[in-house]
Amino acid sequence: LVPIGLLVGIALSALLIWAMRSWSSTRAIVRQGLRRREYHLCYQPVIDLASGRIVGAEALIRWRRSSGEIVPPDIFIPAAEEAGIICAITGRVFDLLAEDASDVLRIEPDFHFAVNLSAADMHRSDIIADIHSLTERSGIPHAKLIVEVTERSVVDLERARETVHSLRRGGIAVAIDDFGTGYSSLAYLAQLDVDFLKIDKLFVHSLGTGSATNQVAARIIEMANDLNLRIIAEGIETRAQEMILRNLGVHYAQGYLYDRPLSLEDLLQRLRAQRAI
Ligand code: C2E
Ligand code: CA
Ligand code: CA
Ligand code: CA
Repeated sequence: LVPIGLLVGIALSALLIWAMRSWSSTRAIVRQGLRRREYHLCYQPVIDLASGRIVGAEALIRWRRSSGEIVPPDIFIPAAEEAGIICAITGRVFDLLAEDASDVLRIEPDFHFAVNLSAADMHRSDIIADIHSLTERSGIPHAKLIVEVTERSVVDLERARETVHSLRRGGIAVAIDDFGTGYSSLAYLAQLDVDFLKIDKLFVHSLGTGSATNQVAARIIEMANDLNLRIIAEGIETRAQEMILRNLGVHYAQGYLYDRPLSLEDLLQRLRAQRAI
């Protein structure tokens, strides 16, 4: 038997996707959500594979509508990008992080935070100022902020390179997210001078399967190590995957094996427990 709540949830999401098919209504729906403060952040811990400790977290946006329904970011982020309103969401993410970070830093002063940027963010002129304002308001040291960009978010390579350059000149770290899922990965990697590579869960899930994808994953890690990039693997769900990644020389790990994305309260709880050990 399918729970009725799930059916209602699916129906509401379908209705929302339908409503978001027009750009103007997407803009109206997102603006309403911002006005009603329906967005919040979850934090998924990042584990240092050498010590097994939580050293940072990725901020992931959540949208809980007044109906109680949770809309997954996979649905509303692409819609907001298309409707040209993603920068308003990024602005809210920065505001929320600025509010949340001090509680975390009080427990773990060396904690790092990762935020996700979209293409429009990478190509607008005020993004650097916004990020510097975020570090100032949040108290996150520049070296402890990681900006995650995907290949998808690089439309104008020249422009993206300038943004990455300015960020790194300011001491902020840059990661290429979902690495390997695009079609021009190697070319981008060679041209964008970044600090971290995030290996997509698609590759992590292929480890140990003897598939071609598995071999690609090993080569990506080898290449990243050759380029002196630090590697974060995401989507780790089993100890077997963890062991293979550690042996391949991956430094950081993120995945359900350790934690799902947590509420701020749950993250603080985890960090206090870790402190006590
Ligand atoms: P992403 O940046 O690649 O984030 C990782 C996604 O993988 C998250 O989904 C996370 O919950 C999920 N994940 C983590 N560990 C595991 C695991 O072990 N197994 C599996 N199967 N999944 C795992 P989430 O939170 O639903 O976010 C989906 C995507 O939405 C993100 O992918 C990102 O592209 C986008 N997104 C989320 N928050 C933001 C944001 O604040 N700004 C922007 N621009 N995009 C965001
Ligand atoms: Ca998800
Ligand atoms: Ca990400
Ligand atoms: Ca990713």
